[in-house]
Amino acid sequence: MRSALLAAAACAAATLVAVTPAQAATCNGYVGLTFDDGPSNAHTPALLSALQQNGLRATMFNEGQYAAAYPAQVRAQVTAGMWVGNHSYTHPHLPQLGQAQVDSEISRTQQAIAAAGGGTPRLFRPPYGETNTTVQSVAAKYGLRQIIWDVDSQDWNNASVDAIVQAAGRLGNGQIILMHEWPANTLAAIPRIAQTLRNRGLCPGMISPQTGRAVAPA
Ligand SMILES: [Zn+2]
Repeated sequence: MRSALLAAAACAAATLVAVTPAQAATCNGYVGLTFDDGPSNAHTPALLSALQQNGLRATMFNEGQYAAAYPAQVRAQVTAGMWVGNHSYTHPHLPQLGQAQVDSEISRTQQAIAAAGGGTPRLFRPPYGETNTTVQSVAAKYGLRQIIWDVDSQDWNNASVDAIVQAAGRLGNGQIILMHEWPANTLAAIPRIAQTLRNRGLCPGMISPQTGRAVAPA
């Protein structure tokens, strides 16, 4: 029995050794897939399932109010291998707020995500991509790197599945695409996004807090 287990373990180890370098060799570059506005009981489970089934990892820019309401979904994001970022607490137009309000939006989200088990975020995406020097300085105060995007999938604007897949096809090495966790078309696009990236030798990466670019997962 013991030798059979050892043999099985050795076989698994050999498979791992054989597969890992081949997979690494197919990565000509890395892209940052991002999904904003979660988490939720309505959309997060299906999105995480689709990403996992297609071998994708992504950065989830969560709203603090939803991290507080659905902490189990934050944990599910982490368990599924996703990275968790800060997307403000209530999704306001931050440049319209004073410094104290901006501070509250960002700091409460840091606390909510950490309390849920999502760790302390290092990445921050302002709602609507709207920022100014106050927003940037408050984000920096909390050790957050501001992340906008290189490609807008337009999924928030009722983009078709085809259009979302095509947007992902425009990503270059290191670049980041904006998507959201709630559009049905985004969920439907996941398998084809994965295939499109594979065809181009691009792999899903993490977003570096140092450079703000997509890089190999740590
Ligand atoms: Zn948003």
